[in-house]
Amino acid sequence: MPSLNEIRSTFLRYFEGHGHAIVPSSPLIPRNDPTLMFTAAGMVQFKNLFTGVETRDYSRATTAQKCVRAGGKHNDLDNVGYTARHHTFFEMLGNFSFGDYFKEEAITLAWGLLTKEFGIDPDRLLVTVFHTDEEAVEIWKKVADLPDDRIIRIATDDNFWSAGPTGPCGPCTEIFYDHGPEIWGGPPGSPEEDGDRFIEIWNLVFMQYEQFSDGTRRDLDAQSIDTGMGLERIGALLQGKHDNYDTDLFRALIEASAQVTGTDPDGDGNVHHRVIADHLRSTSFLIADGVLPGNEGRGYVLRRIMRRAMRHAHLLGAADPVMHRLVPALVQEMGQAYPELGQAQSVIEDTLLNEETRFRRTLERGLKLLDEEVAKLSEGQDLPGETAFKLYDTFGFPLDLTQDALREKGRGVNTETFDSAMAEQKAKARASWVGSGEQADAAIWFDVADAHGLTEFLGYDDLSAEGEV
Ligand code: ATP
Ligand code: MG
Ligand code: MG
Ligand code: MG
Repeated sequence: MPSLNEIRSTFLRYFEGHGHAIVPSSPLIPRNDPTLMFTAAGMVQFKNLFTGVETRDYSRATTAQKCVRAGGKHNDLDNVGYTARHHTFFEMLGNFSFGDYFKEEAITLAWGLLTKEFGIDPDRLLVTVFHTDEEAVEIWKKVADLPDDRIIRIATDDNFWSAGPTGPCGPCTEIFYDHGPEIWGGPPGSPEEDGDRFIEIWNLVFMQYEQFSDGTRRDLDAQSIDTGMGLERIGALLQGKHDNYDTDLFRALIEASAQVTGTDPDGDGNVHHRVIADHLRSTSFLIADGVLPGNEGRGYVLRRIMRRAMRHAHLLGAADPVMHRLVPALVQEMGQAYPELGQAQSVIEDTLLNEETRFRRTLERGLKLLDEEVAKLSEGQDLPGETAFKLYDTFGFPLDLTQDALREKGRGVNTETFDSAMAEQKAKARASWVGSGEQADAAIWFDVADAHGLTEFLGYDDLSAEGEV
């Protein structure tokens, strides 16, 4: 049974054997794109090659790219612990053609890797295409001999890729694996498609057109290919598992989590271990790439992920900080492929220990308050926004942490009253600041105050961490 480390290598070697340059992962903080919160796909580091703004000495590349989808346009944070296939941090395996090969070769290469190199049963594979892309349908029939009912035409932009309103864009084809009728879920395009039976493993994007602001399109001179396959998803199926969290790498992290909390890895606490294992990865990789917990932007996304994990550790009965004790297991599993993890190990451990020590001072009291307030609610009633705001302001509970806690109880938060409590707080803070008559920019003062811990739980800064930075 191949390990995730071996599968990553097989992928890169396969494409290297087909003339692709192996290019290292770029950092999680995009270097060339201030509009992106985190790197969320393999193509990010190649953006300028697709538009022709930049050229390099290769026209085919392959990567295993670190990705985080926990903020900005791509956010899978709320899926973690609930689906078998989503992580906040994952590795996207990709092959790219910059004006070199196009549709037919991309499909041939993908099919060859899956069915020959990896030996996946072709009868378990099905694909989606963009509904107008007859060319892709014909290629799938020719290359893979797929019957009509396993080539599903989709009309939504799930199967049409574009980076924005203008620029390169084109149809895509997604390859799915059927984990079998014992798992709940339906094929893509069906009402049950969000189940875990049919799992999207690979997305092939055909960059075919250039879109203009007046809505017209032309064929690109240099048509290109961008693909992405989740290592954890292909790993699960190659290891005969139906769930990413049952792969070798995740098992090692889950067992470490069980060990440091003195709990059973597979008992009722399993969902907590999954969340902890996932968040340990995103947290550690973000810190290794230079993000530190803070009250705004990327730093606040990191803080939210860390605190969510810490609440789950608390639910497992951990009496002391535990997250930092899991870092060695992660370095053991992933340190060879990503040496930056080992290099940053002590920074990661210190940051986790610090944050967990601070948060634990208020976590228990906050959870107690939350329980008391929930007990007062009538059936089906959401938690008032004022209470969620108090948890945020006084106890350091990010809104999504409170929502995560309530989801287990089948409740939500009144976000309207939460937002107005927040707006009121901000207005007061700004007003009192202006009144002090200083010239410095308020935002700078708040940053300084944050660095010195004066406003530990007061997120004065823009909390719209969901938006792009
Ligand atoms: P899904 O529909 O399952 O959410 P997606 O269409 O959003 O996936 P893409 O943007 O096409 O995903 O990314 C390319 C590949 O990366 C996917 O086919 C999948 O294998 C993997 N992937 C995407 N999001 C995640 C995630 N949150 N965790 C793990 N793997 C992911
Ligand atoms: Mg998605
Ligand atoms: Mg999809
Ligand atoms: Mg996709």
